[in-house]
Amino acid sequence: MAEKRDYYEVLGIPKGASSDEIKKAYRKLALKYHPDYNPGNKEAEEKFKEINEANEVLSDPEKKARYDQFGFAGVDPNYGAGQGGAGGFGGGFGGVDLGDLFGDIFGGGFGFGSSSRANPNAPRKGGDVRVGVNLTFMEAVHGCKKNITLNRKEACKECGGTGAAKGTTPEVCPDCGGRGVVTVQQRTPFGVMQSQRPCTRCGGKGKFVRNPCTHCHGTGRINVKKTLEVNIPAGVSEDTSIALRGQGDAGLNGGPNGDVIVICSVKADPMFERDGYDVWVTVPITYSQAVMGAEVVVPTVDGKVEYTVPEGTQSGATFRLRGKGIQYLGGRGKGDQYVRVTVEIPKKLNKTQREALKKFEESLKEENYEQRKSFFKNLKDKFGK
Ligand SMILES: [Zn+2]
Ligand SMILES: [Zn+2]
Repeated sequence: MAEKRDYYEVLGIPKGASSDEIKKAYRKLALKYHPDYNPGNKEAEEKFKEINEANEVLSDPEKKARYDQFGFAGVDPNYGAGQGGAGGFGGGFGGVDLGDLFGDIFGGGFGFGSSSRANPNAPRKGGDVRVGVNLTFMEAVHGCKKNITLNRKEACKECGGTGAAKGTTPEVCPDCGGRGVVTVQQRTPFGVMQSQRPCTRCGGKGKFVRNPCTHCHGTGRINVKKTLEVNIPAGVSEDTSIALRGQGDAGLNGGPNGDVIVICSVKADPMFERDGYDVWVTVPITYSQAVMGAEVVVPTVDGKVEYTVPEGTQSGATFRLRGKGIQYLGGRGKGDQYVRVTVEIPKKLNKTQREALKKFEESLKEENYEQRKSFFKNLKDKFGK
């Protein structure tokens, strides 16, 4: 049996990913590897099982916590008991329905079922409106309030959403008598065949507007430019989406409104580099600071801190400041900050400085340089002398 892959790796997300990120990653992969799309593909089937197993654990806060702490052993009592790890999950995927995956994505699932086509008068959820928002690194880290401007369809106030001019109401469609469908008769060699098709005059609604509302041209909805204030929570990153429920297009036939989906875009920062919820900072130090150790000022996302670089620090050495990283999106706790120190070499020295450095260099012995010592030993072993 192949080695089990880490669940976060399976879903392609960092440890500490939010439940939203887990959900998103799972759906994307589940759709890609769903057996219905990959008939007879054994590899896709295995992948699909793996994805579902990872999701089963990571989407359940309790199981996730056990997994984070104890690994596979925390969520599957059979793990490591000699019979492979799949036992605890049954390994099946019969319960994952394509419709569920799509339904979740498109909110409400219409368009896949036949209900909306069969009955155009059925309540329908309004469309989602997507808006991008640009954030600085710090705004994404700490959260902020942002105004976004968008266009959405609202119910026409003039006609109350009916599409009929003020003072009139939609009438029963004369072509179909309000049934929305018309019966067509066709003569065939086998006799007269009857079939039904949607009424074209009313579009299957059974209702017909004689005098359309001038405000919305009979559609019942109008485009409105709207500015909304959004609370961007701390910890968002590139492509995080925030849903503002019910703020999208107005629903149809009494259906619920769609959502506004705000998609974050984060500008790169000249000082901080982000890796999941961890932050990387490079601090240049001098040669003598590296040699003798020093107190240096290190920027963190929450302000400056002092850090003691130990004596004999090598260029490129990395230190970790635990819990000084970014606040987890929608959760407690923070990532870490990594401080990478580089030794900056002066590009030019004056005569006195050169003399002093030369004198200092001459005072050093082979023992002062560990790496050089082993380097020259290896060189000698290879090439002699
Ligand atoms: Zn109107
Ligand atoms: Zn009709």
